[in-house]
Amino acid sequence: MRFPEYFDQADQPVISFELFPPKTPAGLRALQKRIIPHLVQLKPSYITVTYGAMGSTQEQTLEIASFIKHQCRLESACHLTCVGASRDELRDIIQRFADAGIQNIVALRGDPPQGQTDFVPPPDGFAHANDLVGFIREIQQAPFGIAVAGYPEKHLQAETLEADIANLRRKVDAGADTIITQLFYDNAPYFNFVEKVRAAGITVPVVPGLMPILSAGQILRITSMCGASIPPNLQKSLEETLDNDEKAAAIGVEQCIRQAAELLEWGVPGIHFYVLNKAVHIQKILKALPH
Ligand code: FAD
Repeated sequence: MRFPEYFDQADQPVISFELFPPKTPAGLRALQKRIIPHLVQLKPSYITVTYGAMGSTQEQTLEIASFIKHQCRLESACHLTCVGASRDELRDIIQRFADAGIQNIVALRGDPPQGQTDFVPPPDGFAHANDLVGFIREIQQAPFGIAVAGYPEKHLQAETLEADIANLRRKVDAGADTIITQLFYDNAPYFNFVEKVRAAGITVPVVPGLMPILSAGQILRITSMCGASIPPNLQKSLEETLDNDEKAAAIGVEQCIRQAAELLEWGVPGIHFYVLNKAVHIQKILKALPH
């Protein structure tokens, strides 16, 4: 099933998870043997699999998405970026996704390689995600469901939130069906973002992305890289648990339950959880939420 079908048919919010390809063969085995089966039991609508820097995890992205789809019989999606690939290379990758029966793509520009601040489009490649979305739509006879990224607190490189939303509109006009947001820890900017997105004439679902905190150090690093803010109270609690992941994760679970409950109450179309390749925390979170 493709992304839009989930939202068209849903009588309750669409819950989805995101995984990343592990760095080692042992990590991949553990993901396939233990973590994915556990996550599948939690009955998300689909699981998406990220795409590493410079396409470095291309093979694993497809392998994991195929495993979810064909071995676990749950819908999946491959992320795809413009980094380091020409149009011909992207065409081949998209064809391989289609050949493997993948029906959904999360289409992104990607980040510049480490040590570079500006994104330099590869020769004969794309500079922005909207170009990639248009390309997928252009070459694909059997259309993929396409999701794109949205930034409630603005993308780091965008001058203003308004300019970023104008770019988001370009991605939707190019053919994206769904928006998944960058992670955030304060719902107010998400509510404001959705209001502005609707005012800009964008009508597709804006699915909030939530990342349960598992470790204070990890989340402070991730948020500083992606520009997501942390409310002062949460920041203080995290700083007190820098050397205690267990305590940080307990705070993270409670915080995520509160945040998700408020979003569901508000009427979000779904929630996309960045589960960081772990199942235990998301199980606790989902158990505490009203379905
Ligand atoms: P774009 O939409 O191209 O935007 C990038 C910047 O360019 C923004 O500042 C935008 O305002 C500006 N811009 C866009 N179009 C134009 C235009 N036509 N003219 C001028 N300016 C423009 N990264 C990975 O490497 N792999 C992943 O799997 C991955 N998955 C992600 C999943 C989600 C849900 C999210 C939110 C992010 C993900 N990322 C991933 C990170 C993403 O690649 C980075 O945030 C990247 O910096 C921007 O990607 P984008 O698709 O939003 O880019």
